Amino acid sequence: MSALLEVRGLEINYGHIEAVRGIDFDLKDKEITALVGANGAGKSTTLLALSGLIPKVRGTVRFAGEDVSRLSPSDLVARGIVQVPEGRAILTTMTVLENLELGAYRRGMKNAAQDLEYVFHLFPRIKERIDGLAGNLSGGEQQMLAIGRALMAKPRLLLLDEPSMGLAPIVVQDIFRSLRTINGDGITLFLVEQNVRQALKIAQHGYVLENGAMALTGTGRELLNHPRVLEAYLGA
Ligand code: ATP
Repeated sequence: MSALLEVRGLEINYGHIEAVRGIDFDLKDKEITALVGANGAGKSTTLLALSGLIPKVRGTVRFAGEDVSRLSPSDLVARGIVQVPEGRAILTTMTVLENLELGAYRRGMKNAAQDLEYVFHLFPRIKERIDGLAGNLSGGEQQMLAIGRALMAKPRLLLLDEPSMGLAPIVVQDIFRSLRTINGDGITLFLVEQNVRQALKIAQHGYVLENGAMALTGTGRELLNHPRVLEAYLGA
């Protein structure tokens, strides 16, 4: 299958800190690709650069055949590259519905009702809480809301930064099941995770980032069984 997104020679610095040191990777269309690695490896930085939220020092990003390396965050969203931010970034003093509507705001709420139905179908618990304040949702429900809000922007590629963060294992299972469904509905996913086992389980392809450089790549299953992954990330 062809690559929806191709990254070549991506380099990102914070001042003199070289956070990402010239990495290459591909996201295949309609697949789940996981980017795993330790704290501080450069995973969030990579996602923020794909969303256009931090500048790239060097490198090119091609999306659906187009060079999108220098596009603004809103132009990237318009192309279908939508991020679910780390820490969810829910607007806690707004209602659940208002949070969801924000996701569709940029495209003028076109077909918003249809997209809301899709979010409700994926996350029935969100539907039950629709008029409540987003701040009253549990952590898992807030994560569902953050994913739902991103879906309202009609992504072709959904970027997820640590969706399992701070959630109980049973809730993590729920979230990962939803990610599989979303992917089954034709949306390409790029999943950044410290929950290496869960991420590699649902991903067709994976990359391991260490100190800003790509250390390993393979299918999810290959990486799950790789001695280095087992030792460094799976406590074997
Ligand atoms: P985490 O899971 O903790 O978010 P990560 O793999 O996503 O880790 P990044 O957050 O991308 O890693 O960080 C990569 C490197 O860049 C680290 O050395 C980090 O200290 C540094 N860094 C991240 N954000 C900033 C910033 N705003 N200013 C300076 N340095 C930063």
